Amino acid sequence: MENNMEKVQCLIIGSGPAGYTAAIYAARANLKPVLYQGIQPGGQLTITTEVENYPGYPDGIQGPDMMVNFEKQATRMGADVRYGLATKVDFLESPYKVWIDEDKLMLADTVIISTGASAKWLGLESEQRLNGYGVSACAVCDGFFFKGKEVAIVGAGDTAAEEALYLSKLCSKVHMLIRRDQMRASKIMQERVLKAPNIEVHWNSSTEEILGETKVQGVRIKNHQTNETSDLQVSAFFVAIGHTPNSDIFKGWIEMDDSGYLVTIPGTSKTNVEGVFAAGDVQDKHYRQAVTAAGSGCMAALDAEKYLMMKGEL
Ligand code: NDP
Repeated sequence: MENNMEKVQCLIIGSGPAGYTAAIYAARANLKPVLYQGIQPGGQLTITTEVENYPGYPDGIQGPDMMVNFEKQATRMGADVRYGLATKVDFLESPYKVWIDEDKLMLADTVIISTGASAKWLGLESEQRLNGYGVSACAVCDGFFFKGKEVAIVGAGDTAAEEALYLSKLCSKVHMLIRRDQMRASKIMQERVLKAPNIEVHWNSSTEEILGETKVQGVRIKNHQTNETSDLQVSAFFVAIGHTPNSDIFKGWIEMDDSGYLVTIPGTSKTNVEGVFAAGDVQDKHYRQAVTAAGSGCMAALDAEKYLMMKGEL
């Protein structure tokens, strides 16, 4: 086989809790998995601070440390963990084709897709320019830096509500920018937000611009009922308008919903292509937890093992 072509039994794409857990199980089942880490090795948890809700860590653990542990465990079990980004697939027939960094071709009997999801952005120039200088898509990661300060958050779903409440405990005041006259978040979260004394909700408001040259100093908002524009003095701007599943390269091959989340057969990790499985946030828009992603990664490895056994390839 050519140097830049390789055949494997189990190829895992993505390195969050789902991918590494799939790798641990697949390696222990002797599928000799190869895992490509993607653009952000360790996934979304590497941009998080303390994780307190992952069972087995009674004192909590830092997100990046947890992902180093996941990787170590996968490697110790024998998984081949590599840098590299899957850039194209062809799932017409088995062995399936996956191109890594555009030029290396992997042929795989089974593929586990665990490419996760990424935060959505508003798309403003100022948002991009000040990213990391007061603009953040993770209140839990960065809120601490703005302790005692006035901040703003955009979004009206459960994530925005949860993060606004989190920020309200740290910051002097939280401005919540909501584009409609209602919130999408669950009733209980809405009630909590509206009851918080230091959260001010700005209804029917959109973000015109984030102000500041080298760091966030304010935000210009527009109320589209009154057409009034106003500037809020804030030190940070948090974006919580949802996530996009990292599923672009699977378009046309794997069934997905309207938002691009891969569809799996309920109760399994099976996709519409036999031998291709999906796990973690790329197929889960609801729970999006490290522990649920890890659980679905385990399911994917077990499903892959069973599939290979049924085909007599194991
Ligand atoms: P959602 O898609 O539910 O909400 C996104 C929010 O962002 C919406 O309110 C939307 O406004 C707003 N939005 C989108 N684009 C823009 C924009 N350009 N400008 C301003 N506002 C914008 O995402 P979430 O991340 O909040 O939640 C995803 C899923 O995860 C949901 O099913 C949620 O219930 C679940 N979840 C559950 C939690 C829990 O149970 N504890 C915690 C967190 C999430 P609009 O309403 O006008 O469309």
